[in-house]
Amino acid sequence: MIYFDNAATTAPRAEVRAVVDEVLREDWGNPSSLHRKGLAAERRLEDARARIAARYGVKPKTLIFTSCATESNNTVIRGMLRGRKRPNIVVSPIEHSSIFELAKVLEQESVEVRWLPVDGAGRVAPSDVAARVDRDTALVCVMHVNNELGTVQPIREIGQILRQNQQRARFLVDGVQGFGKLPLRLDQEPIDFYTASGHKIHAPKGIGLLYVREGVSLPPLLVGGGQERGLRPGTENVAFACGMAKALELMLDEKNEVAQLCDFMRGKLAEREGVRINSPSEACSPYILNIGVREIKAEILLHYLEQENIYVSTGSACTGGAPSHVLQAVSIPKEFRDGCIRLSFHTDTTREEMVRFLDAFDRSVARIRSIIGKGVR
Ligand code: PLP
Repeated sequence: MIYFDNAATTAPRAEVRAVVDEVLREDWGNPSSLHRKGLAAERRLEDARARIAARYGVKPKTLIFTSCATESNNTVIRGMLRGRKRPNIVVSPIEHSSIFELAKVLEQESVEVRWLPVDGAGRVAPSDVAARVDRDTALVCVMHVNNELGTVQPIREIGQILRQNQQRARFLVDGVQGFGKLPLRLDQEPIDFYTASGHKIHAPKGIGLLYVREGVSLPPLLVGGGQERGLRPGTENVAFACGMAKALELMLDEKNEVAQLCDFMRGKLAEREGVRINSPSEACSPYILNIGVREIKAEILLHYLEQENIYVSTGSACTGGAPSHVLQAVSIPKEFRDGCIRLSFHTDTTREEMVRFLDAFDRSVARIRSIIGKGVR
């Protein structure tokens, strides 16, 4: 099997599964319980939090465990709007649907959403953020790495502009596709909120993270107990939090060749007739490579590759048949628009897998073209 859909989810690693299993067997207590069993679970939870915090240069108390990044993003956005009279939020049009769709819902609830323009690479210009922020702006949302294109946003510059601007708008960075992959010290970044997810870095699904900068107040989304400093009521998923800490350490400590391999793949695909590289050539995550294949339906190509035991994604390119809001925002030329696929790699991806993919890709494209009767023009 060749699995190039790691931006969708990753296989939980053996080391992570071992930790999860150990916690489930040994330390399955409720971390809020006052007895020894509870204390043991609490220790595991706090150890996981401290280890993640250490990697991002922040205090453990700034990190909140959630169930997923969607929950983390919703918590911040809903929380920052609470109690405000006529707030607006500034949002990039290529955010993940956990922000993009929520922004559309908010528009129906009469919140003013100020959409940012992006360039052909999907990149936001910090000056465009500054031009849209005023004293009623509750929040600016610009993601770290785009999940369809791999575009890395100038989050530091945006945060700096917001700080200089004195308008007190808070800054949410969806960090899901950068977490454990791109270097980042949250203590050195002008970011108020950063969100992440375990299942994109080989931890299980069902564990997310929310960083809230010290001194920033945020009301909870859910109402309940006082867990996670009252910000995320509900009994914590201790085992998965421990799995996430382990997964992060493995991601950050092991050397990998993803950057070189992605360049190799990019170069090989760029040589092919009728293939367009949609991912930007600069400031792009090496874990994501989005391409367009001229006059081919991405979904058909996906299934041809699947027959060869190769798994890719149409990105979020088609959601129920509708074109992706990300690809629409970056204006892919018409003849490539239906044929966009996303390859997303992981730390153990090999050159051999890439070579086998290219082989299968050529075969599949040739077959599809011969059936629809269109050569490459
Ligand atoms: N943000 C980005 C950029 C993502 O890629 C994803 C998942 O695809 C999410 C948020 C949502 O993460 P989760 O599945 O943990 O809710």
